[in-house]
Amino acid sequence: MAALMTTPADALDLILGEIIPLPLEYVSLSEASGRALAEDILSQEAVPPFTNSAMDGFAVRHLDIRPRIQLPVVGIVAAGQVPHRGLQAGSAIRIMTGAPLPAGADTVVPLEHTRHGNHWVEFPHPVERGAHIRWAGEDIAPGARVLAAGTQLKPAAIGVLASIGVASIPVTLRPRVVVMSTGNELVDASQCPGPGQIRDSNVPGICSQIAAMGAIPLAMPRIPDTKEQVLTAILEALEISDVLMTTGGVSEGDFDFVKNVLGELGAKQIFWRVAHRPGGPFGFWTLNGKLIFGIPGNPVSAMVMVEEYVRPALRKMMGFRHCFRPQRNAILVENWKKPKADGKTHFLRVVLQEGSQGLKAHLTGSQGSGVLSSMLLADGLAVVEADTLELQIGDSVPVHLTELPEDH
Ligand code: AMP
Ligand code: MG
Repeated sequence: MAALMTTPADALDLILGEIIPLPLEYVSLSEASGRALAEDILSQEAVPPFTNSAMDGFAVRHLDIRPRIQLPVVGIVAAGQVPHRGLQAGSAIRIMTGAPLPAGADTVVPLEHTRHGNHWVEFPHPVERGAHIRWAGEDIAPGARVLAAGTQLKPAAIGVLASIGVASIPVTLRPRVVVMSTGNELVDASQCPGPGQIRDSNVPGICSQIAAMGAIPLAMPRIPDTKEQVLTAILEALEISDVLMTTGGVSEGDFDFVKNVLGELGAKQIFWRVAHRPGGPFGFWTLNGKLIFGIPGNPVSAMVMVEEYVRPALRKMMGFRHCFRPQRNAILVENWKKPKADGKTHFLRVVLQEGSQGLKAHLTGSQGSGVLSSMLLADGLAVVEADTLELQIGDSVPVHLTELPEDH
């Protein structure tokens, strides 16, 4: 059976091979947080734009500073003002943080390092020439490349963009992602399930994953398991989305219609079934430029598939330079045995702890694909290769760090 399945690495490559980054749009600074910059940003300006004082104090010529010599204070310049005259030799000008340095001054002495009256100042301590001055362009020179395309805009980037006057930011569009659940057994989270029913956890959980990766989730909950209703829902979803994600109904049960319906609609099947646990019955199709992920219904499988395949794909689509979570090796602190030799790569939910010997990984308890609470604790997915049948305490395993931002 495993022979018919696509390997996780091939599945990821096949998906990424179909992804074309979306076009760009311009957004305001207040809307740009977390988005992927679509173009390099070169500064047209110097930052700071003019040489200014880094402290409240006195602007002087360094040559004029001598022990026990008072200088007359001949003026004052505040932030936002322009000094109306230069500094004459043998005098000082009171200056505030951020105020332009008067011509002729080469040093600022902070208030607390002086003795001073209203009209005089004296310098009891040695002062370095050029101290406490912020030179024009010392932070950003005109023409410098400040941010590269593909960067995820974090608060510091928003501040830098504002400082150089880039108020309309080119960012890559975000895909609209319909998240659909299928299953006659499903009821809403607010409802009390009747006999044989369970609450739909996939739509809320996956919508949250989609939002967390920066895309736009559109919930389409609880499509009943009839061929007609699955068909109608898929057509409706494709009208309003760039990406469709179905959950459930994608294996070979008597009431699993997703795969057949997609086939009838003429969707191109890129693969179906991955040698991946949890989450084997996973498929990927394209139709008229839209991407369709058929995700298994088991809640843990669903979330793991979204994390491992959908997230990198949508990040590529959203123009991010980094699409993959950090990976580190961790030492397993308990034994693990594959339930059976299934030829699948297993993704174990683990809790990580930094120890003196490096990173340590504990399993989060039951690894059943229905045990959603195992995802609550996990901060990583340990990847156990298909031909590994067991792991022992002290073995090293590669772990995807699912709580940290992508780094490659
Ligand atoms: P399926 O992939 O449709 O065969 O579903 C596999 C298992 O996942 C079944 O136990 C379903 O009841 C469960 N399941 C399917 N969809 C959901 C959902 N949206 N929320 C919670 N459990 C689900
Ligand atoms: Mg089902």
